[in-house]
Amino acid sequence: MTLVNEHFLKLPNNYLFADIAKKVNAFKVSHPNARIISLGIGDVTQPLCPAVIEAMHKAVDEMANGETFRGYGPEQGYKFLRDAIVKNDYLARGIHIDANEVFVNDGAKSDTGNFQELIRWDNSICVTDPIYPVYIDSNVMIGRAGVLEDGKWSNVIYVPCTEENNFTPEPPANRVDVIYLCYPNNPTGTVITKEALKKWVQYALKNDALIFYDAAYEAYIQDPDIPHSIYEIKGAKKCAVEFKSFSKTAGFTGIRCGYTVVPKEVMASTLTGERIPLNNLWNRRQCTKFNGTSYVSQRAAEATYSPEGKAQVREVIDYYMTNARIMKEGFENVGIKVYGGDNAPYLWLRTPRDMTSWKFFEQMLYEAHVVCTPGVGFGPSGEGFVRLTAFGKREDCIEAMNWIKDWMK
Ligand SMILES: *Cc1c(COP(=O)(O)O)cnc(C)c1O
Repeated sequence: MTLVNEHFLKLPNNYLFADIAKKVNAFKVSHPNARIISLGIGDVTQPLCPAVIEAMHKAVDEMANGETFRGYGPEQGYKFLRDAIVKNDYLARGIHIDANEVFVNDGAKSDTGNFQELIRWDNSICVTDPIYPVYIDSNVMIGRAGVLEDGKWSNVIYVPCTEENNFTPEPPANRVDVIYLCYPNNPTGTVITKEALKKWVQYALKNDALIFYDAAYEAYIQDPDIPHSIYEIKGAKKCAVEFKSFSKTAGFTGIRCGYTVVPKEVMASTLTGERIPLNNLWNRRQCTKFNGTSYVSQRAAEATYSPEGKAQVREVIDYYMTNARIMKEGFENVGIKVYGGDNAPYLWLRTPRDMTSWKFFEQMLYEAHVVCTPGVGFGPSGEGFVRLTAFGKREDCIEAMNWIKDWMK
């Protein structure tokens, strides 16, 4: 008899977006002629920029020729891309990262989910709430999260992100081993200041804890004082691993490329107190379980750093951020309280009259024909909020806001 990993059975069956799809389909059945606009999607809609397309065509041509064909690449990523990352994402901000500290991957989801393999099952973990579900679910699968009780995992410390703390909470009062942070934040669209992030880094250094920092939306930051990387904070190279992705930066959700930075100084201990560098362990893990990101994808990622690539990527981000501004102003004009949307492609709406997330979701669907994402799906502190994304097409954003204006009248 083969025994199953029962930790998987603790995961709730229904996935948030499947529940949403079910409700949207029910609406479509009863309203076959109604047009619906979805502002709930967490996927980009604009095509890849010309510099990326050109680099991909060139890479495909190389693969078509025996002289320039490439098979397996380095598990850690090609040097041309690791060097471009170091130079453009770090050196340009005064941060010194070695190319050997950069691990190219097939997107940030894999590594934000996998990295926890390097630490023992009985470490305590802390998340901000609401949160990107991957961080918790990957810990559930290995048995670290405990059991689900009233919407919370018994072994997870939740730090609520609320209106009162402006969605950037203080570190917990008690000691924890690992902290997951995501800024700019999905789902709230809010950011963290250098001062606030410094408190988390100091907490981690003082408590010998680790921070897993997800900066997938860093490129959307508009305000020059907001940190793009946790390594902008002194001491972070001793306690933080950073995850980045080309998915939201350059529309790579279908191409697949991201990277993880594991500084050489980041350590975890054995029971006898020996300090083990996680860079070596992650390298070992990747060489066993990962065979590299495709050459074509890595050339595509490299192209986002050329002068043309940078300008074109910026144009698409500006497009989404203009959507965000149109949507935010639209909701504010009808008297709805909106957070986020200034430095991230997400808007976090307070539901009127303390309506639940799902109730507001249904009202907006049935009365305005606009789809959002119920905030409670991202964690208990998301109750009373819904998330909207700015990743839609401009004309859809404008039309949806007109429908909402008529609905709220
Ligand atoms: C979209 C997203 C990512 C990136 O996922 P990929 O696997 O790189 O496509 C990472 N973290 C968060 C919070 C995200 O929303």
